[in-house]
Amino acid sequence: MILMGYVRCLLSIAAVSFLSACAGSNRLASNDLKTGIGPNNASAVAGHSVPDSVAAKDAPVATIRTVAKTSSASPADKLIALTFDDGPRPYVLFGRKVDHPAPGLADILDQNGVKATFFVVGWRLTPKTWGEPKHEEDIGVTCLDAAERLIRRGHELEDHTYSHLELRSAEKKNGEQWVMHDVDRGAQAIKAVTGTQPRYVRPPDWILTDDARRDLQKQGYRVLTISSENPMALRDVNSLDYLCAGKAVGCPKPSLPDAVLQQIEQREKKGTYTHILAFHELSTTAAIMPKLITDLKARGYRFVTLTEYMKLVEPKTGEPVKQAAVTRPTQVAALSR
Ligand SMILES: [Zn+2]
Repeated sequence: MILMGYVRCLLSIAAVSFLSACAGSNRLASNDLKTGIGPNNASAVAGHSVPDSVAAKDAPVATIRTVAKTSSASPADKLIALTFDDGPRPYVLFGRKVDHPAPGLADILDQNGVKATFFVVGWRLTPKTWGEPKHEEDIGVTCLDAAERLIRRGHELEDHTYSHLELRSAEKKNGEQWVMHDVDRGAQAIKAVTGTQPRYVRPPDWILTDDARRDLQKQGYRVLTISSENPMALRDVNSLDYLCAGKAVGCPKPSLPDAVLQQIEQREKKGTYTHILAFHELSTTAAIMPKLITDLKARGYRFVTLTEYMKLVEPKTGEPVKQAAVTRPTQVAALSR
């Protein structure tokens, strides 16, 4: 595969294009972010900041990278798949009307011509649900309405389970079948809105046993991962945006958009110019989107849905996503418990 990628690179150079594709095909293994701490555990990791250790370990890719570096041409197709977990949250998507009025995330995306992917939680997609009543604002739009509006606006809905429980613990307690059912139930709730079966699953906090991952893959799901066993282009970039919500304890410095851009720059240094950015449906995240989108466009990035991203990027990585899971008690667990 590496040889084929190398040949592809040479061909691409002849065409003075697709350099990024070749660079993106590097099978870099790195100590990429393993901080799979989600909003579930945000309070437990207060003070945690963006790790800066993204050191590549794979030597064999050096040749390809050298080819890419010897040309001054910029990567041909720099892609961002913006993703937002935990919704739909109507007041985030369509803006607050009373307390702290703010533009909605869906409107911000529209204004910038950006199509995004929403990893929604199945239980919200039930009639007359506005979200958690104590914490969320009823703006007269149900979660179901919000999901339908997202689809009409050209965004994509994917599966973030039905319950949003941490699946490794849930499996220990209820067995693997429960996990499979929870993912399926989330998928059915989405299908009831969109008419199509979602293909991608992002487990809460990226935590899943190897067995469950393998079985989900067998059923046709693609499980999103932060595992360094997968090509960097297919690994989620954890924005850590949940650390900027609420009391904002531990929000990356100097600012969330700058910290995300720093992560992207680190990936670019390793020859990766395509990124799946993992955010959450949070008002604080919506607020930084105009700046982040503007900055990324200025750097030559274009925005695609996850399906389009995979269609463009996956063949260039030379292999499908491995079924490696977060099996050992990872830093995730160490940091979040
Ligand atoms: Zn989540």
